[in-house]
Amino acid sequence: SAQLSVTDGAVEMAMQLEAKRQEQQIELIASENIVSKSVMEAQGSLLTNKYAEGYPKRRYYGGCEHVDIVETLAIDRAKCIFEAQYVNVQPHSGAQANGAVMLALVQPGDTILGMSLDAGGHLTHGARPAQSGKWFNAIQYGVRKDNMLIDYDEVLALAKEHKPKMIIAGGSAIPREIDFSVFRKIADEVGALLMVDMAHIAGLVATGHHQNPLPYADVVTTTTHKTLRGPRGGLILTNNETIAKKINSAVFPGLQGGPLMHVIAAKAVALGEALEPEFHAYIKNVLSNAKVLASTLKTRGCDIVTGGTDTHLMLVDLRPKGLKGNIAEESLERAGITCNKNGIPFDPEKPMVTSGIRLGTPAGTSRGFGNAEFELIGHCIGDVLDGLAANPEDNSVAEAKALAQVQKLCEEFPLYR
Ligand code: PLP
Repeated sequence: SAQLSVTDGAVEMAMQLEAKRQEQQIELIASENIVSKSVMEAQGSLLTNKYAEGYPKRRYYGGCEHVDIVETLAIDRAKCIFEAQYVNVQPHSGAQANGAVMLALVQPGDTILGMSLDAGGHLTHGARPAQSGKWFNAIQYGVRKDNMLIDYDEVLALAKEHKPKMIIAGGSAIPREIDFSVFRKIADEVGALLMVDMAHIAGLVATGHHQNPLPYADVVTTTTHKTLRGPRGGLILTNNETIAKKINSAVFPGLQGGPLMHVIAAKAVALGEALEPEFHAYIKNVLSNAKVLASTLKTRGCDIVTGGTDTHLMLVDLRPKGLKGNIAEESLERAGITCNKNGIPFDPEKPMVTSGIRLGTPAGTSRGFGNAEFELIGHCIGDVLDGLAANPEDNSVAEAKALAQVQKLCEEFPLYR
């Protein structure tokens, strides 16, 4: 921006470089997206100046009448989209939303049952290095070895054995639809609460392309910046009034101080966009693009975990090509394609190496890529991986060839038209 370049050239320069990177690379990180200019305008606004501890009409500061309108709009839109009676829009992030649920509904030392990180779960669902794994007796379920799908029999067996206070469904690398009704049955059988973390699939749920967890879960959390295409942040939703009250107290004053009103404004804008027909068409394209990318990669000799995808993401098993995730990630980056190395279930490699990469279509679809472009991207990835398998020491020829195609696609589909 003009002002920043005068006052702080160092930060401005780094921001310019990042803008160029986003413009010139194809973003396949499944958890990222490209927000609208309206979302960015709201987030970059003077609402950042305002303290508003408390909730609409019940604040600890004066001058909140206008930010009250903003927060109420965000709440009402989220209620409408997800068919929820109570929504808290203040969590600063997905991890904060999950932390607030724990603070509200379980005590340190209680048993929780979540999906393990290596099977596709999230750190906040009871992984050892996270608060959720340190403060609770965290038991972890995984996927079946024969089909890599959630092992509901194991969830039931572990629930019966350990009697968790809370069961957590959802994760960060789950390519197939989750059946929340099965989780509900298991929770009921052992008297546990059910929390669903729909961070990755919130945009799919919002448009009816994934089962809505609200009718089944006691409480639902999400981020707002993945398939929902909003600013970085979190939401907590429930249909239970008692739980809603506990959640509100847990978010503030339990875990956070002042809400980020500029971010809540951007959440309201993104939720408004999610109600529009264009967003429904967008998610439909995200899903069909994911199918095209997965099937193209299969024709190029990659294994796709579970054989394909029902969602916006896929896990590519690189072992048929004799490659590791970390090396593939680096080579793809040199070819202008950004993704992340990702452990596949039962991965023999360490987390910093891995046997796989995780790919998602939300960001690419936002810049306008359709089936034809994702087929081309799949072949670019195939070329880079084949080049790497043939020349592990120097893949510069295949990388340069793919990079030329990536640059052409990026020029044809600018980030902001
Ligand atoms: N829950 C799930 C399922 C996620 O995938 C993520 C982020 O990757 C989070 C929670 C955490 O969100 P945040 O990074 O906003 O804290």
